[in-house]
Order: sequence, then structure tokens, then C-alpha cells
Amino acid sequence: MYDLIIIGGGPAGMSAAIYAARYGLNLLLIERTAVGGQMNLTATIENYPGFDEPVSGYVLGSKMLAQVEHLGVEVKYTEVIELSLKEDIKKIKTEDGVFEAKTVILSMGASPKKLGINGENKFLGRGVSYCGTCDAPLFKDKVVAAIGGGDTALEESIILAQHAKKVYLVHRRDQFRGQKFLLDQVKKTENIEILYNRIPVEIAGNKMVESIILESKTDKKLEKYDVSGVFVFIGYKPNTDLIKEQIELDENGFILTKNNVETNLKGVFAAGDIISKTMKQIVLAAADGAFASFLAFQYLQKLK
Ligand code: NAP
Repeated sequence: MYDLIIIGGGPAGMSAAIYAARYGLNLLLIERTAVGGQMNLTATIENYPGFDEPVSGYVLGSKMLAQVEHLGVEVKYTEVIELSLKEDIKKIKTEDGVFEAKTVILSMGASPKKLGINGENKFLGRGVSYCGTCDAPLFKDKVVAAIGGGDTALEESIILAQHAKKVYLVHRRDQFRGQKFLLDQVKKTENIEILYNRIPVEIAGNKMVESIILESKTDKKLEKYDVSGVFVFIGYKPNTDLIKEQIELDENGFILTKNNVETNLKGVFAAGDIISKTMKQIVLAAADGAFASFLAFQYLQKLK
């Protein structure tokens, strides 16, 4: 029986592991594939404190893992297939057996939705990105396309426009679902051009992205725009399928919390992008992880 099992090895989960190890908890960190989470999608990170030179998401994840391992945390690479979280003893069924714990931190994150068009996977990290805040400086004085019509697309287009020479904001309808004040800001930004009623059909290039092909919904004609980057902001899918029957979620499937990291179940905490919140950043995920471990530690103290 573990004191704590952390599910998901992104920055939230690894930060939680670091703090929990230092609280002296008997813990297990479970990761499905490779640690790092969405950081692995990011070529260069320039906004995480402590790095005077840009660091790749992969390297930052590796450094966090080294810190976790240095503290002696047990890490298992296995897929969780079932979770029973309602009772005092939490049961985590994996492909490598069932593990039990008194507390659990859910840090499985969220995955950016994909367009599912030709070129999107091929050019990932070579012009295709899902994070403007992270990658915009790489496109200084270049022309880029941003796809989507929600708050993320609007906010991130504004960030992109601070670096890029020009941003095409491509939306599939003629009405944005994002907030009006953000749309007003977009419209005031001279180097953003909104392309309404366009559906992305292909991302093209050689080694790097060179263009995006859009289909006009009005006349079905294909249009080619020369761009060096394509930023996809069409929403996120939280990785909450396994817990949706037990944990309270918002209408988009993200975990509803109080006190930032407490779920509706006692002894079960959440950290990082899996939480229903507006700003999703590595530094905030790490902060959630630290706080979730602190509350798990306090909960365990009360059990004694
Ligand atoms: P979202 O609100 O779900 O918007 C996704 C956008 O992508 C929609 O405009 C949608 O078009 C478009 N889209 C979806 N699939 C597409 C496809 N296959 N091809 C082309 N376009 C596609 O996602 P989000 O903007 O990431 O926001 C998620 C949540 O976080 C929202 O609740 C949002 O309010 C919140 N958020 C808030 C803030 C803030 O308050 N500052 C900032 C960021 C996010 P349609 O409109 O046609 O469906």
C-alpha cells in the first residue's frame, strides 16, 4: 500500500513527486509512455524560470525526471486501465497489476485536438505547433497561420502577432466563439488578418512548413497561403475518460476543483492541465503538483 500514487508524468506529476518525496511519503509515479507530457510537443521553452538559454521540452522533462529519480521515487511505465477512487483505499489497475494507495494525484493532462489533415503530423515541431506562448519567438518576422475561433486562438494570435511579421487567423465560420474583448483586441492588431469561412485542408512544405491550403466554404475554392508556421488552437481534450464516472468534471471534461487542486473525492487531488482553469502553463502545472502533494501530506497526517 502506497501513501500516494501520482498518475501522469508531466510537469504537474513530476513536481508532485518531488514534493511528496521530500515529505517522506511512500509513493509511486505512473506514466503511460514517456515523462514530459505536452512539454515533449514543444521544441523550445523560454518561459520556465532557471534557464538563461532556451531549453527544449524534452530536455526540461529529462531534467525533471532526473530530479525525481535522484530523490528515489519509484516510477512505473504502464497504462492505467481502471481507477476506483471513491473508497478510502484507492485502487489503480494497470497493465502491470493493481496498486493501492491512500491518496492519489491525477495529473494525466490534456492533449491538444488535432486538425487531422495531411502534413500536420509530418511537420510537428518543424512549423506545426499547438502553443503560441511557447513557440511564437521562433517565428520572429515570419508569416504564420493560427487556426481556431475560441479564446485560445484569439489570445494566442495576439501573442503570435508580437513576434511574427503577419498572422493569418483562420476560422471555419463567420462568428467567433471567443470573448468579444479578445476579438476586439485581435481586430485592433494591424498584423493580424482574419480569414473567415476557411477550412484547413493541407499543410505543405519540404523539410519545414512552407504553406497551408485552405478551402473557402463560400465557393469551395482552394487557396494557398505561404506561411512558415501553423498554430492549431482548436481546443483541448482532457485525459479524463477513466475517471468521468467518479470525479466531477466541467462541461468540457476537465476536473472541477476547489482550493485549486481538491477534487470532489477525499484523498484525491488533481494537478496541471487536467484541471478546469483558464491558464495552462508548465510553471502553473508544477505549482499545482507541489500544492497537491502538500494537501495529500496533510490529509495523510490526519489519518494517523
Ligand atoms: P474552444 O472554445 O473549444 O474553441 C475551439 C475553436 O476551434 C472553435 O472556434 C471551433 O470552431 C474551432 N475548431 C474546432 N475543431 C475544428 C476543426 N477541426 N477545424 C477548424 N476549426 C475547429 O477551445 P479553446 O479556445 O481552446 O478554449 C477552451 C476553453 O478554455 C473555453 O471554455 C475557453 O473559454 C477557455 N479559455 C479561456 C480563456 C480566457 O478566459 N482568457 C483563454 C483560453 C481558453 P467552431 O466555433 O466553429 O466550433
